[in-house]
Amino acid sequence: MKKWIFSGRISKVNIFLVVGLLIIIFCTCVTKLENGKVAASTQEDENPSGLIVLVYHGISGENKELGGALLKIEDFKQQMSYLHENNYQTLGLKEFLAYREKGAFPKKSVMITFDDGYKNFMDFAYPVLKEYKFHSVIFPIVGLTPGLAKEDVWNEHLTFHDLRLMDAESGLIDIGSHTYGLHYYDDKGQAAINLRRDESMAAYKARVGKDLNVSKELLELETGQNVIALAWPYGVTNRTAVKVAKNMGYQMLFTLVKGVVTCDTPLERIPRYAVNSGSMEEFKKILASM
Ligand SMILES: [Zn+2]
Repeated sequence: MKKWIFSGRISKVNIFLVVGLLIIIFCTCVTKLENGKVAASTQEDENPSGLIVLVYHGISGENKELGGALLKIEDFKQQMSYLHENNYQTLGLKEFLAYREKGAFPKKSVMITFDDGYKNFMDFAYPVLKEYKFHSVIFPIVGLTPGLAKEDVWNEHLTFHDLRLMDAESGLIDIGSHTYGLHYYDDKGQAAINLRRDESMAAYKARVGKDLNVSKELLELETGQNVIALAWPYGVTNRTAVKVAKNMGYQMLFTLVKGVVTCDTPLERIPRYAVNSGSMEEFKKILASM
């Protein structure tokens, strides 16, 4: 009898234990699932796709095959229309910094930049960008601005008046520097942004510093914008040049290294994708890097 009573007690205790355990397991599973959901959604919100910075040079109105970094206007239109139809958001420099500060770029965000400051930007690219209300950043070679250029150049450049006009009219134009006169390779194949063989470090720093300072001051004076961005000519740079640029007040340094920008990307090494082809396939491939 004792045995039976004992086993009866045991079995009651067992039932309680099993039910209790089941409840604990159930609760743990539900909590884990919910935590998982929260973790997933937080991760999605805080780590959206990165930002793609595109770089264009010249846009041509001629509808024929073009060499170099010149893109046909029809191809450019198609690319911008694709961005518009697929709900891409374009960021200017201020938006870039504000989102970075917040810790997240919006999904499908791109930055459209133009190097060299060719007049054909105003003739062909600007009307398209304005139509879609797309932001863009122009990096003119300041020393090639008409009136400042020492010699004839192969392609016409934007005047300060052009820059002011487009900015005032649309509010969509940001301006950065592409140096005043360091956009060339010397006869020994050395990029002007780098230390020359016959140059002391002090002279080099002074030369680069003067150029970057003059281009910033002139652009600020002529456009009224706070010039905080610099695109290195040909993407060439080095540690000393970066230090000099930062000392001159440039906060955002753009390279030509391919890569997606995240909120952790250092502002002194912002990667960009050059769009040198009108191919939609290649364009979509760049966007798919996000
Ligand atoms: Zn350039």
